[in-house]
Amino acid sequence: MSQTAGTPRSVNCPTCGKAVQWTAASTWRPFCSARCRQIDLGAWATESYRVAAANPPDGDADDSSR
Ligand SMILES: [Zn+2]
Repeated sequence: MSQTAGTPRSVNCPTCGKAVQWTAASTWRPFCSARCRQIDLGAWATESYRVAAANPPDGDADDSSR
């Protein structure tokens, strides 16, 4: 119980699982880097975009198939 104080906590990067020290120096925590943060945000954006695009409006494409 002597190393509890002063020891920075570490978390695992949600994207790649790399250990990230939870300190003020870790700008991108809980991610290990800006790239991993971007990947995670991109995954969210892509997922929401696909949900929106899953219901395309009916247009002239259906008319041309007949
Ligand atoms: Zn990472």
